[in-house]
Amino acid sequence: MPSAIATAPSSAPSKAASSVSSAFDLYDPSEETVLLRQTVRRFVEREVEPQVLEHEREEKFNRALFKRLGELGLLGITVPEAHGGAGMDAVSAVVAHEELAASDPGLTLSYLAHAILFVNNFFRNANDEQRGRFLGPVISGEWVAGMGMTEAGAGTDVRAMTTVAERDGDRYRITGRKMWITNGTVGDGELGDIFLIYAKTGGQISTFVVEKGTPGFTLGQQIKDKLGTRSSPTAELVFDQCMVPASNRLGEEGDSLIHMMRNLELERLTLAGMSLGIARRSLEVMNRYAMEREAFGEPINRFGQIQRHIAESYAEFLAGRAMVYDIARRIDLGAPGHRMETDAAKLFTATMCKNVSDRAIQVLGGNGYVGEYVVERMWRAAKLMEIGGGTLEAHHKNIVRDLARDPSFYR
Ligand SMILES: Cc1cc2nc3c(=O)[nH]c(=O)nc-3n(C[C@H](O)[C@H](O)[C@H](O)COP(=O)(O)OP(=O)(O)OC[C@H]3O[C@@H](n4cnc5c(N)ncnc54)[C@H](O)[C@@H]3O)c2cc1C
Repeated sequence: MPSAIATAPSSAPSKAASSVSSAFDLYDPSEETVLLRQTVRRFVEREVEPQVLEHEREEKFNRALFKRLGELGLLGITVPEAHGGAGMDAVSAVVAHEELAASDPGLTLSYLAHAILFVNNFFRNANDEQRGRFLGPVISGEWVAGMGMTEAGAGTDVRAMTTVAERDGDRYRITGRKMWITNGTVGDGELGDIFLIYAKTGGQISTFVVEKGTPGFTLGQQIKDKLGTRSSPTAELVFDQCMVPASNRLGEEGDSLIHMMRNLELERLTLAGMSLGIARRSLEVMNRYAMEREAFGEPINRFGQIQRHIAESYAEFLAGRAMVYDIARRIDLGAPGHRMETDAAKLFTATMCKNVSDRAIQVLGGNGYVGEYVVERMWRAAKLMEIGGGTLEAHHKNIVRDLARDPSFYR
């Protein structure tokens, strides 16, 4: 039986990878990104990979491991150093997501919800007083954070949300329910620690920081039996006349579409980074397996049909990687300006990683259908990339709308 399959993603730089690193290319454009990739890869091999099968099977969030992400400086990856973060850019954020997802897409989803949906969004839109109150414990990993936009009746159609925030003196009264919230629980009926919650104020949408322990804020349904990313906890959040200080509102009333726009580009790109990690691991596993597994007296990588699975996967992975890192390199975290490209990056890489992981299962035959051989976990996680953070259809709609506004996109 091929032996190299159920092992951790390879951290030994290949000849090609080491020349890439020393040359500072598109994927590792600086010494900083090279170091970051090496550090995360080592962490993955030593601490993430050994626990993933158990936590995925048992749908358990590994809070202690999550705190380690804080110790490594990854939870505030895009926050300037002056505010306690790592002061890194969009390329670095993609690197971290790619490397983590190559092992544990569930942990990576929880990381994304915390570091991008909460921390990056909060930092870009909060004032200094709010940053002083909330940033420290989320960057250290003492608190687990998330973001609540979706409701049971309002997903793609975000403006249909019915959660309301009514002003009452120096507070807001929030009423409504948020569904599908990553890190909504941290396990055993326990709420996550802090959330950015979108709610209607009048006809517009505003954003509020809501902490665990705020009266009227409770945990609703805990979502179990997800197809994939099962080591990431998902839950419903309930707000029943939840009184939140007005000083917890981000920006002005009704500003939230601007907040969403500012954050969405990095959200889509880091999700695309996850897709790269899923595809890369699937490709690595299928390639090694096909080198070792013999049928009809020869390794299966001699068969044309297997070669097609592997070669097409490699070509598609390279295309996706070039696209994602090219866009990441040009993104300015402070200002939006790459909406159409980030939609395209997530659209392409989501289906690319689903196809690559699907082919990997095919190449492994029966072994591909079993958890120990990794690729079925990658395949289950890959499907989320076509739904979360914008469905494929939402990306189609957005891209065609933006192309109609700018028909000379190719300039
Ligand atoms: C594991 C997981 C974690 C998540 N984490 C979070 C989180 O942390 N925070 C959060 O706020 N949300 C989260 N979500 C929610 C996620 O963002 C939504 O599921 C997603 O936006 C789709 O919304 P929906 O499920 O309501 O589907 P719907 O919007 O109801 O879509 C159903 C189908 O209709 C299609 N559709 C809808 N509108 C159109 C249209 N105009 N044209 C063509 N087709 C259309 C969709 O593409 C889809 O195929 C999470 C979801 C999952 C599964």
